[in-house]
Amino acid sequence: MLCLLGSPARGEELVALLAGRFVDGEKGEVRRDQVILVRGDRIEAVRDASFKPPSGARVIDLSRHTVLPGLIDCHTHLVDLAQSASAAAPLELSAAQQVLLGAKHAKLTLLAGFTSVRDVGTWRVLLDADLRNAIDEGIVPGPRMAVAGTYITTSSGAGDITGLPRDIILPPDFRAGVANSASEVRQRVRELLNGGADFIKIMATGAVLTRGTRPGVPEFSEEEMRAAVEEAAKYGAKVTAHAHGAEGIKNAIRAGVQSIEHGSLMDDEAIEMMKEHGTYLVADIYNGDYIATEGKRLGWPAEYLRKNDETTEAQRQGFRKAVAAGVRIAYGTDSGVYPHGDNAKQLPYMVRYGMAPMQALRAATIEAARNIGWEDRVGSLAPGKYADVVAVEGDALADLTRFMNVAFVMKGGAVVKGP
Ligand SMILES: [Zn+2]
Repeated sequence: MLCLLGSPARGEELVALLAGRFVDGEKGEVRRDQVILVRGDRIEAVRDASFKPPSGARVIDLSRHTVLPGLIDCHTHLVDLAQSASAAAPLELSAAQQVLLGAKHAKLTLLAGFTSVRDVGTWRVLLDADLRNAIDEGIVPGPRMAVAGTYITTSSGAGDITGLPRDIILPPDFRAGVANSASEVRQRVRELLNGGADFIKIMATGAVLTRGTRPGVPEFSEEEMRAAVEEAAKYGAKVTAHAHGAEGIKNAIRAGVQSIEHGSLMDDEAIEMMKEHGTYLVADIYNGDYIATEGKRLGWPAEYLRKNDETTEAQRQGFRKAVAAGVRIAYGTDSGVYPHGDNAKQLPYMVRYGMAPMQALRAATIEAARNIGWEDRVGSLAPGKYADVVAVEGDALADLTRFMNVAFVMKGGAVVKGP
């Protein structure tokens, strides 16, 4: 059964999910034979197997499944064209075409069991907010989205469109996040948050997949990033920093960002600082393999492949150290670099690089929710939260590759993929 808009929660209909294995991420434990009661779009209660669902409740049997909260990816790019060899790729579609493509990506992401995402940037300003609104209004199916609006970047930096002939003038919509001083950063933050962004993404260093930029080189200064953090705080909004090089990571942490994206070349001091400041690490430790194989096959520039080689293994070793040090880690994959819908492929990598399976699942549920600031509504199956639920056949913690094929997805009480 596949109902793309979900069977709308009919008024106050009561649904009972019979969970063979119930993952309680907040407690870090799995309990057998629980009953999850869903009323409308919310979880009403979680009871043990001795509880008899009231007559009239619709019963969904997941007794042969592992049941857990909807997964959360804190680093997606739903709106843009998939990464490609062409520097002009962001210019190849109209805004309307891009949002429609984003709708397709959103559906793939939801059906993969990811019921919330933090979408960390689009080249054309605020198309992500349009997609978020269309999902929230029930126009298209997709995950709950927190959106950045665009990248706040230095000109020619990691979030600018580079690699075009230098006499090409880009339309303003593609450069709405460009800033070159603390006061310009403040202006961009205000424009994005007033325009509908939920949080701010700032580029602290060069990038692997932006031509000419160098992952190890700091771009914005600590002072410029602090301006973003201060301005965003007036709106109650968080700032996350794209940062590969150790110096850029430290600048961003000192500036007070909520989280570090990538963290590829972190050193021991950076790990220590993340721990001390409670900064989340969102490390995309799967997609380096995708770039090294598929990027190469698809003819991506040699520069991308070289920078990917220079960061992939370093990032994984840094991740392992960060896990051991007790740094807060939230799940984020950089979908859009690899195909949307494969978001769960990173789960087994996180186990390979030092996490227990339960830790990896916590990173993709309650910790991700905390990182976004949504722990009051998603991230665990607790009364009052949205009924965002996924189920995987058998004992899913025994083998996280099973998350590549979730059997059941519910978002806000509506079944979007079901047994
Ligand atoms: Zn990214």
